[in-house]
Amino acid sequence: MVAPPSNSHKAILNIRACLGCGDCIEICPTKAIPELLIGLYSHLLEIDKSKCNGCSECVSICPHNAIKLVEL
Ligand code: SF4
Ligand code: SF4
Repeated sequence: MVAPPSNSHKAILNIRACLGCGDCIEICPTKAIPELLIGLYSHLLEIDKSKCNGCSECVSICPHNAIKLVEL
């Protein structure tokens, strides 16, 4: 279940757990998750805290539990 947006929480990414499927990029309503494309592979960059509204959509959709919300 997706939590309501919370400006006191921000998403952080565990690069080691991410397999680059891109699902979180697609679902993020604020475009806070930047992507770096290298050839056929996508590599995620650090989530932009200034854009993240804490909605947790990315946490819910990630199949590898690579994103979590932290309280600021
Ligand atoms: S918590 Fe919401 S706004 Fe923040 S990065 Fe994830 S999907 Fe985007
Ligand atoms: S949904 Fe998870 S595995 Fe897929 S790109 Fe985002 S962080 Fe990586």
